[in-house]
Amino acid sequence: RAKQRGRNTFHLFDPDQDRQLQLRQERRQRVAEALARGELRLVDQPQIDMFGGRVVGLEALVRWQHPEEGLLAPNAFLPIIEGSSLEAQLGEWVLEAALKQQRRWLACGIELPVHVNISPAHLLSGTFPERLGNLMARYPEVPARLLKLEVLESAAMHDIQAALDAMRRCQVLGIDFAIDDFGTGFSSLTHLRQLPVDLIKIDQSFVRDMLADPDDMAIVESVIYMANRFRRPMLAEGVETLEHARALVLMGCSLAQGYGIARPMPAEALPTWLEEWQQRHEWTALSLQASP
Ligand code: C2E
Ligand code: MG
Ligand code: MG
Ligand code: MG
Repeated sequence: RAKQRGRNTFHLFDPDQDRQLQLRQERRQRVAEALARGELRLVDQPQIDMFGGRVVGLEALVRWQHPEEGLLAPNAFLPIIEGSSLEAQLGEWVLEAALKQQRRWLACGIELPVHVNISPAHLLSGTFPERLGNLMARYPEVPARLLKLEVLESAAMHDIQAALDAMRRCQVLGIDFAIDDFGTGFSSLTHLRQLPVDLIKIDQSFVRDMLADPDDMAIVESVIYMANRFRRPMLAEGVETLEHARALVLMGCSLAQGYGIARPMPAEALPTWLEEWQQRHEWTALSLQASP
């Protein structure tokens, strides 16, 4: 009887819910087609050491080259596929595309670790480490130390035991982890200590606003202090200006990524950027300016 009523109640809301569900499935379907048609791309954003200006790595970021709407950012399509099997499929495409690109760069003498973002569900899917191992075996030219996985702080904290397990199994393959968007996920210090993470990425929102907002500055300062105490390297995201850079160097954070250094770019643009970067003396001489 209750079941009957439940079903009736459901039917009252049916047209709307049905429509929502249908729309969702249609949008997912479009992402699936994009993946199948090869409309996804990776762009790369350089990471530098502000003590001396050396380029230390790249972050690979996914884009959808949409036939009508142009280049779409991940926020426009990753949330749509969250929770579906497409999430892992897209994640594997990204991993393979990054390995392929690494192979091309190694062939032309560019040797930089590439950071790949891994979605929580993908990392925690159980078979992730095994599948990653299989994938890497198909790219023997690319050493494991040139692939780094970025995991959201919130993901690692959601199920710490499962995250630890998956991360440790990847470490056996020689893969290191960075913890992404640090400061947004309420990690406890205990947990941070447990995680096999060799880079802490301070979330861009704090860095971007730290010069105007004392609270954000306090967060950035605390993360730098803590990371130094744990002897973990850290990288500041969202470095948009030289003022950001100078402040970070003074606080003891030397690794950085942000629009002020470079916007994410297609692979073809990287060799030229690397050459031009050498001439950007205001950035490459930063350690001299910052020292007292
Ligand atoms: P994220 O991993 O924290 O990546 C940094 C994001 O900040 C990128 O946005 C980048 O373009 C942007 N950014 C870099 N420097 C600056 C700056 O100075 N100022 C500002 N305002 N923004 C800056 P994007 O490419 O739109 O990516 C957004 C998020 O989507 C990423 O955040 C990451 O969580 C996710 N994502 C991107 N690619 C992938 C992927 O291949 N797989 C998965 N699972 N997630 C991805
Ligand atoms: Mg990232
Ligand atoms: Mg981030
Ligand atoms: Mg982010």
